[in-house]
Amino acid sequence: MRICFATNSQHKLEEVMAVLGGTFQLLTLADVGCKEELPETQETIAGNAYQKASYVWSHYKIPCFADDTGLEVGVLNGAPGVFSARYAGPQRNSRDNLNLLLKRMEALRNREAQFRTVISLILPQGEWVFEGIVKGVILTELRGTGGFGYDPVFQPHGSLKTLAEMTMEEKNEISHRARAVKKLEAFLNAL
Ligand code: IMP
Repeated sequence: MRICFATNSQHKLEEVMAVLGGTFQLLTLADVGCKEELPETQETIAGNAYQKASYVWSHYKIPCFADDTGLEVGVLNGAPGVFSARYAGPQRNSRDNLNLLLKRMEALRNREAQFRTVISLILPQGEWVFEGIVKGVILTELRGTGGFGYDPVFQPHGSLKTLAEMTMEEKNEISHRARAVKKLEAFLNAL
């Protein structure tokens, strides 16, 4: 089966390609001729994932999936959550987002957080949804240069490293996205 991963993020593409086995052919947006920025204007993570996947399905009529991820901090009532990409403003700058998060958490002792990924899969028969979560804590300063986004301040429970200090293989052992992708892969393999 040929299936498109609807993402404009090179980081996500590399992570997902490394998790998926070779049982189906993964196409990129470039492969299907989609050059547009995908819309993500919904109020929930699942809504954004569906919006991105359904954009590709409706324009290119190819089986596809999209992910949307939020960093959810308990003591901030789940923020930045669905606004993770534009927490510090519409310029969607990852370093600004990170700095704002550290500032808002400056005096806070409870630093529990989770990354949550929702994948929306669209096939001719309909939509399926897969979720992956990793729980951890937000550090008070940045550590590591790998990964992307909020990785340098997120230390998963049970790990001494932040996600940005891990190799991609280590991150893919435990990450929110890898967990959702493995569920997607199991579903596709069972079709
Ligand atoms: P989106 O899924 O592309 O909308 O991601 C929302 C925000 O979360 C962006 O600012 C990303 O940088 C950040 N983000 C998404 N996935 C990860 C991840 O695996 N690690 C760290 N930050 C992430």
